[in-house]
Amino acid sequence: MTDAIYVSKSDILDLITENNEAGGFTDYSNYSNLWDEVDNMPATNVQPVKRGRWENEYLEDDIWWAECSNCKQETHSRYGRPSTYRYCPNCGARMDGDT
Ligand SMILES: [Zn+2]
Repeated sequence: MTDAIYVSKSDILDLITENNEAGGFTDYSNYSNLWDEVDNMPATNVQPVKRGRWENEYLEDDIWWAECSNCKQETHSRYGRPSTYRYCPNCGARMDGDT
């Protein structure tokens, strides 16, 4: 499946319930059937995206070091700045924002 988006099932059920309470359903069975269909949808394994940024980058003895703001672990490299890495090799965080 491409271009999939994932939303919380409980958020959708809350929205359906709010819609029913606001009179959005003219027939209770329509509300009940929709609620049941959403509630019975199979779960998909989804892992929350971890985000971080590189901090405290420095060069020491020809080795670059930087700390991940998410896991607080340091990463080093002889071949360039760790701050160019898009992901933390320790925790897998995407390095495009705050934790
Ligand atoms: Zn990390």
